[in-house]
Amino acid sequence: MVNQESTKQELKGIAASSGIVMGRAFLVHRGRVSVPHKAIEAPQIAAEIKRFTRAIEKSKHQLREIKEKILAEEVRRHFFILDVHLMILEDKMLIQDTIEAIETRRINAEWALDIIIGKLNDAFDTIEDEYLRERKNDLNYVAQRIFRNLVGRGYDDLAKIKGDVIVVAHDLSPADTIQMNLNNVPGFITDIGGRVSHTAILARSLGIPAVVGLETATSLVNGEDILIIDGYAGTVIINPDEATSEEYVERRRQIRLLEREVLKYATLPAETRDGYRIRMGANIELAEELPMAISHGAEGIGLYRTEILYLNREDLPSEEEQFQTYKSIVEGIAPRSAVIRTLDVGGDKFLSKYGYDHEVNPALGLRAIRFSLKEPQLFKVQLRGMLRASAFGKLKILFPMISGIAEIRKAKAILEEAKEELMGEGVPFDEGIEVGAMIEIPSASIIADALANEVDFFSIGTNDLIQYALAIDRINEHVSYLYEPLHPAILRMIKGVVEAGHRAGIEVAICGEMAADPAYIPIFLGLGLDELSMTPFYIPRVKKILRSSSYEDGKQLLDEISRLSTAAEIEDYVKGMMAKRFPDDFSLGYYWAERA
Ligand code: PEP
Ligand code: MG
Repeated sequence: MVNQESTKQELKGIAASSGIVMGRAFLVHRGRVSVPHKAIEAPQIAAEIKRFTRAIEKSKHQLREIKEKILAEEVRRHFFILDVHLMILEDKMLIQDTIEAIETRRINAEWALDIIIGKLNDAFDTIEDEYLRERKNDLNYVAQRIFRNLVGRGYDDLAKIKGDVIVVAHDLSPADTIQMNLNNVPGFITDIGGRVSHTAILARSLGIPAVVGLETATSLVNGEDILIIDGYAGTVIINPDEATSEEYVERRRQIRLLEREVLKYATLPAETRDGYRIRMGANIELAEELPMAISHGAEGIGLYRTEILYLNREDLPSEEEQFQTYKSIVEGIAPRSAVIRTLDVGGDKFLSKYGYDHEVNPALGLRAIRFSLKEPQLFKVQLRGMLRASAFGKLKILFPMISGIAEIRKAKAILEEAKEELMGEGVPFDEGIEVGAMIEIPSASIIADALANEVDFFSIGTNDLIQYALAIDRINEHVSYLYEPLHPAILRMIKGVVEAGHRAGIEVAICGEMAADPAYIPIFLGLGLDELSMTPFYIPRVKKILRSSSYEDGKQLLDEISRLSTAAEIEDYVKGMMAKRFPDDFSLGYYWAERA
């Protein structure tokens, strides 16, 4: 498919969902509706409130209609996203505060809603965790739907899209993504969005190639332009010439072969040629991700981030609710184990009832275990929920952001209190429950030998370890070029932690993003790690490379790279070696591109 008249152009965005597709552009208008600001008189208040509640009801109706149309089981698994949107439409703060603003400020419904959404957005902005911050998008999708229903502007109906077109939009909601799946739309691109938005998560699980965060797609692409989406590299080609089209057709053919082949490794043992085993764990945020984890060959849940349970709500999740969620995870993964991490909020702002002041450096502030220790009641509720679930399978508790011995002892003391309470109440739990420490602060890595005597396992959180060791804010794009997993300091830290753990007879895992990179497998082997935990999708390809590698080669490689002085030298050396050793996997730029 070639467009001879226009000139070729290449855009770089964020690779949200892998796959290569070509097609004609179809622009969908999802721009923000302009919000009319009007003052009203007292007698109009009741009518304005009615208009607002009608728009809420209409929005709910639209979402329920989308749900009803979905028949495919694969898509139905994602109902929870539409349910989250429906829950937002039930949110007391959103509804009551907007009604109150209409009454007290005497303003129209759009203006009132605009003010409340602004406040909620500010609260989300203070959250440091990227995943949680992205949940703000769900709130804004819902807000846009209400605004449209208030001002009477309908949506461009994605249900009416016909033919093999690539959808181009400023932004798309998860509901839009489901609709595109129903209509077999082959791919989409957007101006905004990130890799961990629900839209991107859905696109990945539904297998719709997508590039997001292109910034200028809707202004540069014209309807009917020919587009190529490369969801591996995060690039979009507008009006490709013939040679480029052919190049991508060939690239797609080769990648499809590789992908099909790599899935075969999902159920094979994660073992090297010379018999060394590394356990493959799955990182999950939602219990709904369990089936994917199992089908992709996870040998346990290596990290369940519990933060999502606390989100999108005014109240806190009860012990019973937490117990039920944790129980479904341990039962779902049985007989394997599930590592469940206690709350890791990046700053406490969204738990508004706690009202701590705005922090200047939230990454260095009241985060994770520090917050839990400051709020022992909240912490204990979570620990009781975990303990109760431990009676139903193999559950391990993981404490995040441990910086020293005192913290781990305090956390364990509260765990002991929770155990005693449950024992007194005659509630069963696993009395030998294992507890672990995340090693993600340099101080913890330095005293790993002492920490190892306090816990049953270590899980290295490289996402934060790199941030804190190299002083690189992990969410600041201006310094991202310095975020180097293979920095000699990081490799030395991991090595020290593994050695300290093994001397004390405990296992050491990596659960940061770095674990999913197949190019690093020989390094992980050389370092002697016991487990790698990652997003389930990546497990088969990591297994594939692991099964063709050897422990001895890993040891040798580690020796060689320990003589190199910079992260760039190490990266080049490892890349070159992997491209030579696994030409089919690495020379295409397949794995490398996804990492970029
Ligand atoms: C990490 O820091 O590597 C980690 C796994 O935790 P999170 O990404 O949730 O901070
Ligand atoms: Mg972390």
